[in-house]
This record gives sequence, C-alpha cells and structure tokens, in this order.
Amino acid sequence: MERIVVVGAGTAGLQTAVALRERGYGGGLVLLGAEAHPPYDRPPLSKDVLLGKAEHSRFEVDYDQLRIELRLGRPALGLDSDRRLLRTEEGELPYDRLVLATGAAPVALPGRPADSHLLRTHDDALRLKAALRPGARVVIVGAGWIGAEAATVARQLGCAVTVVEAAGAPLAGALPAELGDRTRAWYAEAGVELRTGVGVSGFDRAPGPSGTAVRLADGTELGADVVVVGIGARPDTGWLAGSGVALDPRGAVAADDRLRTTVEDVFAVGDCASFPSARYGERLAVHHWDNALQGARVAAANVLGGDEAYDPVPYFWSEQFGRMVQYAGRHTPGDDLLWRQDPDAAGWTALWLRGEVPVALLTVDRPRDLAQGRRLLERRTPLDLTRAADPSVQLKAAVAG
Ligand code: FAD
Repeated sequence: MERIVVVGAGTAGLQTAVALRERGYGGGLVLLGAEAHPPYDRPPLSKDVLLGKAEHSRFEVDYDQLRIELRLGRPALGLDSDRRLLRTEEGELPYDRLVLATGAAPVALPGRPADSHLLRTHDDALRLKAALRPGARVVIVGAGWIGAEAATVARQLGCAVTVVEAAGAPLAGALPAELGDRTRAWYAEAGVELRTGVGVSGFDRAPGPSGTAVRLADGTELGADVVVVGIGARPDTGWLAGSGVALDPRGAVAADDRLRTTVEDVFAVGDCASFPSARYGERLAVHHWDNALQGARVAAANVLGGDEAYDPVPYFWSEQFGRMVQYAGRHTPGDDLLWRQDPDAAGWTALWLRGEVPVALLTVDRPRDLAQGRRLLERRTPLDLTRAADPSVQLKAAVAG
C-alpha cells in the first residue's frame, strides 16, 4: 500500500494529515513527531497554559478513525531522498510521498544559564509556569511577541518582571519603532519594567541559594530568579543536511508556490518552509499559526496531485497586556502609514498603503477593522484615504470611488 509520511506533528503536520483524509486519501499515513506528546496547539502555551487556565492545548482528533498512525517521540534524523527513506533511531522508514513540517526551534542566546527558560513546547510552558511564583524576579530577554505575552502572564501571576530588548522599541522584528513604541505604555500600566536599546552581555551566578545576575551591555546587573529567553525562532531543518532538499539563505526549506520542495514528491509547509509569493513579489517565511493551517490545506491538495498555488495574505494575532493585537498583510519601509484612532477609545488601527491600496494593517482591540481590512487586502481594494482615516467609518465603507 502506498504510504505518505508527514514529519513533524505540530499544527502544519497534523492539519496536512487530516486534510489528506478529508480529500479522500485512503493509503497509509504516518505522522512522525519528535515530541512525546500528541499534537497540540502552540499559541495557548504563552497564554492560557502558562497562566494555568488550561492544562494542555492538545488537538481533539480521533487518530484511529482517521487512520493516522502517530509515531511520537521519534525524530527524523535524516532523509535519503534517492531511496525514499527517512532515517530514525528505530531504523529506516520508507515513504512514497513526504511532507516536511518540522516547524522552528528557538534561537539560543550564547551563555544563557542552563536553568533559563525558552517557550516553544508544552514541556517548556509547564516548566516555566512552575517557576512563575508570586514575587519571583523574572527577567525576559526579548520584547517580541513571545516576550510580551510571557511578561503579561508573569505579571498576572504576581511576578516582578523586567523585559530587556536590544532594539530601540518592542516588537522591532515585526513593526516600525513608531508602532512598537505605542506598546511601551502597556508595559508600564502592567507594572513591567521595559529596558530597550540595551542588550544582554552575559550571566553570572548570583550569591545565595538561587538566582542569576543578568549583565546588560550598559553595565547594569539585574537579579533574576527566572530568566526567559524569547529572541526568535529558526526553521528546524538541520536534519535535512545532505538530503538534496534545498534550503533558502535563512535555513527554511525553499518550497515553490505549490509547496513542493526541490526533491520529487517531497513537500514542505508551516514554520519550516518558505515559498515565493506572487502577491508580494518575494519569498516569504511566515512563522504564524494561520500559515500552518492554510498551508496544510494547499500542501495536502498538491500531495494528492492537485495544482493549487499558495499565496496567502499573512495573518497573526497576539494577546498581550489585556489587548488583542492582530496583523494582516505585509508592509515594507516605503509604505505610507495611516492611523484610525478614536481619541476616546483605547483601540486603534494602523494601515499601510501603497498609494491608495492597503497592503497591511495592525489592529489593537478593533476586530471589525481586522476582518474587513483583511478582505480589502486580499482584493487590493483602493481606499478613500479621508474616510479610511475616520474611525467612525467602517473600513469596508471607505472603499474609493
Ligand atoms: P511547530 O508547531 O513548531 O511543529 C513542528 C513539530 O515538528 C514540533 O512538534 C517539533 O517537535 C517537530 N519536529 C521538529 N524536528 C523534527 C524531526 N526531525 N522529526 C520529527 N519531528 C520534528 N502564532 C500566531 O499566529 N498567534 C499566536 O498567538 C501565536 N502564539 C504562539 C505562542 C508560542 C509560545 C509559540 C511557540 C508560537 C506561537 N505562534 C503564534 C506561532 C505558531 O504557533 C506557529 O507558527 C505554528 O505552531 C507553526 O506550526 P508548525 O506545525 O509549522 O511548527
């Protein structure tokens, strides 16, 4: 019987497997995962799971009914694409068609203490949760999405939190400083100390039973009971060395617009992959949940012989400091920024435009703008800029002409 193997049992891998069955694939289907846990969702890890409001974020899937053979705790160690074999600790696993969905792994900070925390896996979240005791001094390295969400939860749990960010403003990897700076007040309101423009230069063991001194480049030392490092993630593709599967310069599997890799019958999806976007005229590597979900559907269709192009409008959300932050599209430094803000309301929307055409938007507690804006981005609908800037006018009513 034919066998499709999906490597990586995260959102992208699981959703690809489910979509293969939904599309009528009746052959063998193996989902191989490095972690021992059944597939689970990552976004709740830095939210409800860390807070203790949820014990886990496992996907509710009937694997037996779908005849998905879960092989957990078994990383793929290598790929022999000539012989169509995966190498695992237990031996070789043959496949007819293969989907790579191994996600991303956190970037390590050199010299970080052995007991410091990362936040990528279910086990990471449980270990960090156990350390976030009321009064604990928590130093979070990185004011990106994960750092901001971890700071939010640590404060809710009664910790004393400092966030250190080497860039000049929070969220610097994703947003211009003008926007990142708008989130500074959120840290202050929550009682989180935010230090930007200063990197961590090292760590020392502090005197006493526990604790670390976090050394900053400006000479400051911060005492910490808990150190969390959230400085980004890189595609988890090292195991593909020598396989013939081409990687892009950032280490992601260089898929084409059908999510096919450079090796026949091998596809790639989710955080581990990049793909050329005709919509944006560049190769995109999107590390967001929606990409894992939407990409899985296209990958499954094409694995089964379809010819679907993958060219999404990227979307993600973040829940931080009691706010729902959502972003859709893709902006570049040359795009014009337009604000939609009601002075009497806390929420706001920033729209990036090329001429009159919106290319991206960021909303804070304005879900309706996000939903309507997303459709405008997809259709590249030109806007009447005066109306678009008026927060009392619905975005869909700000269409030009
Ligand atoms: P992953 O979820 O990383 O899954 C890949 C799986 O492959 C992992 O389980 C890994 O163990 C396994 N694997 C790796 N190597 C091998 C191997 N060699 N063999 C077998 N298995 C292997 N996005 C949002 O849009 N909004 C959010 O609010 C949000 N919050 C997040 C919070 C956290 C804490 C994290 C970590 C991410 C968050 N994301 C969020 C991002 C989102 O979760 C990811 O984009 C998504 O999980 C990517 O799915 P994936 O399946 O490609 O990769």
